[in-house]
Formats: sequence, C-alpha cells, structure tokens
Amino acid sequence: MKEKESKKRRLSIKSSIFISMALLVVVMLTILWLTQSVFLSHIYRYTKKNETDRAASIIVDNINNENLNSLIEKISSEYDLCAEIIRYPGDKEILYDSHFLNDCIIHKLQFEDTLLDFWYEEAKSNGGKYIDILPRDKFRDFGYDPDDFHGDVPRRGGDANCVISVSIAETSDGDSVMVVLNSFVLPVDATVKTLRLQLIVITIVMLASAFLIAYILSRRLSLPIEKINKEAKNLACANYGVTFPQEGPIEISELADTLNYTAKELSKVDAMQKELIANISHDLRTPLTMISGYSEVMRDIPGENTPENMQVIIDETARLSSLVNDLLDVSRFQSGTQKLNISRFNLTESVKSVIKRYDKLISHNGYIINFVYDEDVFINADEVRILQVIYNLINNAINYTGEDKTVTVKQEVKDGIVRISVIDTGEGIAEKDLPLIWDRYYKVDKVHKRAHIGTGLGLSIVKNILLLHGSRFGVSSEVGKGSNFWFEFKIL
Ligand code: ADP
Repeated sequence: MKEKESKKRRLSIKSSIFISMALLVVVMLTILWLTQSVFLSHIYRYTKKNETDRAASIIVDNINNENLNSLIEKISSEYDLCAEIIRYPGDKEILYDSHFLNDCIIHKLQFEDTLLDFWYEEAKSNGGKYIDILPRDKFRDFGYDPDDFHGDVPRRGGDANCVISVSIAETSDGDSVMVVLNSFVLPVDATVKTLRLQLIVITIVMLASAFLIAYILSRRLSLPIEKINKEAKNLACANYGVTFPQEGPIEISELADTLNYTAKELSKVDAMQKELIANISHDLRTPLTMISGYSEVMRDIPGENTPENMQVIIDETARLSSLVNDLLDVSRFQSGTQKLNISRFNLTESVKSVIKRYDKLISHNGYIINFVYDEDVFINADEVRILQVIYNLINNAINYTGEDKTVTVKQEVKDGIVRISVIDTGEGIAEKDLPLIWDRYYKVDKVHKRAHIGTGLGLSIVKNILLLHGSRFGVSSEVGKGSNFWFEFKIL
C-alpha cells in the first residue's frame, strides 16, 4: 500500500525532464525580462553614474599631470561627457575644458551662478565629491531654462537626464579646483519596447525548443531503460538467457553491461546449485542404499549378521554425518555466524593425529603418507577447525595422488612462521582452474574418482577457516606432476 503511494508521488523520466527544462527556461526568461526590461533603465543609470564617477577619479588623480589637457580630451570622448576644471572658490577661472557634448549644462553656467555654489557646498560637505542624476527640468529651480541651452542644436535624447559629478581637488600650486563633469542618461523607453518585443519572440522560441529537447532527451533516456526493465522482469522469472540491450547514454549501457554480467553469473550459480543438489542427492543416496541394503541382508539372511557387515553400516553412517556436517559448515560460513575458539596447541601433534586416521588405508591399500618435520610447533588457533583443514587437504591429496599412492606432508619453520604443505604426485590442476577450486561446489573433473570424492565443499571450507584466522594459504600445481597445498601460521 505504502509502496503504491510513493510510486504515485514519483515522476517518470519524461515528466522530470519536462519539468526541469520548463523550470530552467522560466528562470532564464525571468532573468532576461528583469535585466532587459524591468531593470534596464536602473542598470543603465547605475552604469552611467559609475562611469562618470570613474572618469572624475582619473582626472583628480592626474590633476598635476602636465598632459592633463589631452587626458581630459581622451576621457571625455571615451566616457561621452563634458569636463571643466575651474579654480574655485578663488577667481573661478577655467583652467581646463573639454566640450564634447553639444547641449551640456556646464558649458552654459555663469560663474556667479548659484548652481556652482550649490555644487561646491554639496561636494565639500560630502568629503570633496558630489554626484547626482538630475532631470533637465530641475535646473529651472536654479533659474535656468534648460530649453534655452544651445537652442539651435538638436537636444540629446529629448528628455535625457544629466549626470553631474563635482570633485574638489588641490593643485601643486596650492589652488583649490573644482572638477565638473556632465554626461547624459538617455531615456530607454524606446529600447525597452524593442527589447520586450524581442523577448516575447525569444520566450516562445525558447519554450518550444525546451519542450522539443525535453521530448528527444526523455525518449533517449527512457526507451533503453524501459527495455532493460522488461528484460529485468524476465530475469526475475529465472529466465537467465536474457540479453540487456546496450543502448543510450554511457551510464545506461554500462548498467546493461552489468546486468548482462549478473545474468551470466546467476545462470552459473543456478547451474552450480542444480549440480550441487544432484551431487548431494547422489552422495546421500549411496550410503543410504548401502545402509538399507546391508540391514535388509542382515535381517533376512541368517549368518550375515557379521561384524564386517555391521562395520559397513557404521562407515556409511559416518560418511553421511560428515557430509551433513560439511553442508552445515558451509551454510555457517555463508551466513557469517561461524566463530573461532582460539587456543594454543601443538600443530605438529595435530598433523600426526590426522595422519594416524589413515592407518587402515596405509596398511590395507598400500598408501604412503610421509610427514617431514624437525620439531614440535605451537600455534594460536581454533584446534578443531585447523584439524579440519589438515584433514581436508590430506584427504584430497590421497584422493587425487598418483599411482605411487604417496602423499608428503611437510612442516617447515622460517622466521617465526610455520608452513604446512600437503604434496601429492597426482594429475595436478590446470592453471585456469587454480583460482576456482576454492569456490563452493567447484569440481575440476566431474567424473574423476566420483566414488571417493565429496561434493566440492572441502576446499571452500578450508579457505573460509584460514581466512577467518587471517593466515596465508595457497596452492602450486603442475599438470601431470602433482599439487602442493599449503598454509602458514605464526609460531608461539
Ligand atoms: P571435492 O570434495 O570435490 O574434493 P574440494 O573442494 O576439496 O572438493 O576440491 C575442489 C576441487 O579441486 C576438486 O573437485 C578437485 O578437482 C580439485 N582438487 C582438490 N585437491 C586436489 C588435489 N590434491 N589434486 C588435484 N585436484 C585437486
């Protein structure tokens, strides 16, 4: 129920892309509208004021420069403004002058004008600087008729506002001067109108392209995912032969690649498990058949109740219980619940005790198990589990050793480390199989000596026990010559 609800709230790739693109377009258009339309005149006024201020600072910084005149000319043309440097208060003589704009205010000022006094006072009370943007009509307050200026030349931008900058500076001669600049902020209404029209067109084009791109993108992304999903459902139904199509962007094709690998591995595991069940059934059935067969013979035929026949039943029962124990061990290692019971014990004695179990094989079947060692060695480990390791390795060596029926167990001590090697003279293991033999249920040769050999669990148990102990182990083998399985422990 909950899953259904959360599914409802989640969006498909298509909707997510559509919504994201639409949001992106809305954000971009809002920024465009704000900067190009709503705030255009503010931005323009701010820029113009800043520029004029920067021009004033350059002139003030170079007030004693001998090339001041040409510098003022350059700045006037660059920043589109008129400039005057007036000795003030003093005799109000114009020291430098650039007349770049035809209809500027400052070139029409009279030196006894109240406006100059006003600017001077404003600048003085403001740390030597005054800057303002004034509508032309404001000059009427000071007794000027703005339309009277240069009546014969066309006025700049009709109702343009004037940017007036006044800075007070001192020359090296000790004169106080006033740097007066005048530029214009032209009305941007017409520009805004044009831009608005452009923006409407841009908005329509952008929205249309956003939807088109979103549609193409979402198809490109969702189609391969839909295909993968379909195949994944097949895989969930244990159809391991599925192939995930490697289409679309890299990430999706990598996902398909991973899923193809997963399907392949799953099919291997499936095959292994089927084989395991077959093996286990076979391995369970053989002793069970023996036990029931021998029991029936002993019950039905007088005189067959012999100790030898009883021994067969006992041996087969032992085989059964060892198989069940192996399966339990593997499942404990698999679930991570296997714990170690660490203690100090005599490893050399443990090897000897395992070899002793094979007394019967040695005396009846002519097997030879050599144990080569110099001294008794003690280690810290789980004794029962290490016995299991030694038993499994020696058991494998006996099962796979060659015609000479010889197995050699070597105990070598070097730099405080003891190495136990179990060496046989059998067929050996091909290099390609070496890394795999430690896996659960793995068997190199399925028919080879089946009757003696277990379920392919032995080496997996050995590996898990040695890994839990953190000890080094390995195998070297040569086909036709035999194998050498070894493990190492720190001596105590
Ligand atoms: P199994 O019960 O089949 O012996 P193991 O896990 O002990 O299972 O071994 C896995 C496989 O490794 C065996 O089936 C065998 O093919 C190979 N193997 C193990 N020990 C030896 C050995 N001493 N010589 C050759 N092959 C071996």
